[in-house]
Amino acid sequence: MTDPRIVTLERLVADVPDFPKPGIVFKDLTPVFASSTGLATLVELFVERLGDAPVDAVAGVEARGFGLAGALAQRLGVGLVLVRKKGKLPRAVHREAYALEYGEDALEIHVDALAGGQRVVLVDDVLATGGTAAAASRLVERAGGTLVSRLFVLELGFLGGRSRLPGVPNESLLFVP
Ligand code: AMP
Repeated sequence: MTDPRIVTLERLVADVPDFPKPGIVFKDLTPVFASSTGLATLVELFVERLGDAPVDAVAGVEARGFGLAGALAQRLGVGLVLVRKKGKLPRAVHREAYALEYGEDALEIHVDALAGGQRVVLVDDVLATGGTAAAASRLVERAGGTLVSRLFVLELGFLGGRSRLPGVPNESLLFVP
């Protein structure tokens, strides 16, 4: 039987056809975040998926990953590391370019963000093609961290993104085949 918490989350996800462009069905998670129990449920399910894996820091990907990562870091009692779009972080950074549907963008992390060799869980809202999470994973390692797991709320399985994310467990709470 499906976990009733998962069913509740599924019902809160809003499918928005043709956003941001024709042919894309955008999975809007803002109603999950806005629900009185939604964010807490996400965090509890993430903690369960992590199991006994030791974690020293949570890395969140701009922008929708930030809220999730902050809530999880607080729950785990560990620090929060921000992976930001290029040009936003004020000190020395590592940069990784990644492909978008049209063109390219880049993510950055402070070079000293994980200099203590922290064990890191990476969090984002949606796993689509995997390009964003792959770039963020490279940044975690370049900054000195050891990636232990990647957590997503929702995975678009038909895009095959997880094949671009080797090495550590990838967990998604909701799955679109
Ligand atoms: P990716 O293709 O895995 O690099 O995804 C790029 C970013 O866009 C991720 O941070 C996702 O949160 C977001 N994203 C991609 N496709 C969708 C979609 N259909 N609905 C909601 N967010 C999406």
